[in-house]
Amino acid sequence: MKSDCPVCKVKGSMELKTKIEEIPYFGEVMESTVICEECGFKHSDVICLEAKKPVKYTLKIGKDKMNKRVVKSQSSTITIPELGLKVEPGPQSQGFVSNIEGILDRFKKAVETALSWSEDEESKSNANRILEDLEEIRTGHKQATLILEDPFGHSLIEDKDAVKSELSSDDMKELKTGFITFEKE
Ligand SMILES: [Zn+2]
Repeated sequence: MKSDCPVCKVKGSMELKTKIEEIPYFGEVMESTVICEECGFKHSDVICLEAKKPVKYTLKIGKDKMNKRVVKSQSSTITIPELGLKVEPGPQSQGFVSNIEGILDRFKKAVETALSWSEDEESKSNANRILEDLEEIRTGHKQATLILEDPFGHSLIEDKDAVKSELSSDDMKELKTGFITFEKE
């Protein structure tokens, strides 16, 4: 299946690849990726075909959790409160199947990008501190909390220590779903 690239506009340059994974107690998840042969633009998402309830997972992360599987859908929000890090859904957000280490790696790349763009000293030192913290979590010198919230329930942290709870309607109001919502006065 071929489609046109939204970045370089070359017709028929985007190729769709799909992979289906069976995840215990969760069901089948389809990971789809489109890649442009011309410019390398890539976008991925995970699709879960069953209807699910809104979920929230909370897990203390450290060295022993690095290989735990994470399914992150396009509609989910990931927060590490101790580090002040948050990824919210938006037009650029992607879904993927990865592990805790992969999540930390994505945060690291995002912070490094922010660091390369920032000019004032305060945000530079803040970014460097976050990078140090991420490395300390990865190497087992520090623990932090990872929160994964998904109003469509398509996300998962696969670990016995991950605390699963239902999202309250107050939690839901705080989350961005990628859709436009209107608040009543
Ligand atoms: Zn392209």
